Amino acid sequence: MRCYECNGSLVKQTGSVTFNDTFVGKYSVDNISYLKCDCCGELAFPAGVSTVIDGAKKNKLQRLIGRLPVSEFITATEVASILGISRQAVHKHRRISRGFVHTFMNGAKILYHKKSVELFRDTGDGRFSLVGYGTGASWGVYRVIDGERKKMTVPQDWEIEKVNSLDSHLEEGLG
Ligand SMILES: [Zn+2]
Repeated sequence: MRCYECNGSLVKQTGSVTFNDTFVGKYSVDNISYLKCDCCGELAFPAGVSTVIDGAKKNKLQRLIGRLPVSEFITATEVASILGISRQAVHKHRRISRGFVHTFMNGAKILYHKKSVELFRDTGDGRFSLVGYGTGASWGVYRVIDGERKKMTVPQDWEIEKVNSLDSHLEEGLG
C-alpha cells in the first residue's frame, strides 16, 4: 500500500501509539496494529482499530469533563432556554449528541457544560480544549507534607502552564 501523503510505502506495525488531540491532549492506545509510512511517518489504522482509538479518546474526554466543577453544569431544561429550542429538541439534537457540546453522564442523567452550551450557541461548536482547563480555586493539587498526602488549592490568578508544571513536579514527588 502507498501513503496518501507522500506515496511512500506503508509498513505494518504493532505496538503502542500516542495521540495528541486538540480537545483532550495526549492519550495512548496499547498493542494495536497499524500501517506506518516509511517515508513521512504518516499512520493509517484499520476500521476496527479506529473504533478502539475513538473509545480511548472518549474515555479520556469523560475523565477530563468529570474533573470540571459540578456547579459549571446545567440540565437540558436550561440548555433549551439558552438555545431557544424545546427540551425535546435538545435531546434529539444531532450535533449535541455527536459531541459538539461537552456533556457528562451522571448516572442516567445527561449534564451539559454551561460554557460549552454558550459557545455552541454562538459558534455552532461548543468544544473547547480540556487540556489544563479547570485551574483556579477548584483545581486541587496534592503534595506530601510530613508523609501525608494533602490537597492544596492553587490561586485563581495562576497561569495554566504554572499549574501544569507544578502538577507534574508534584506527581514525580508522589511516585
Ligand atoms: Zn508518507
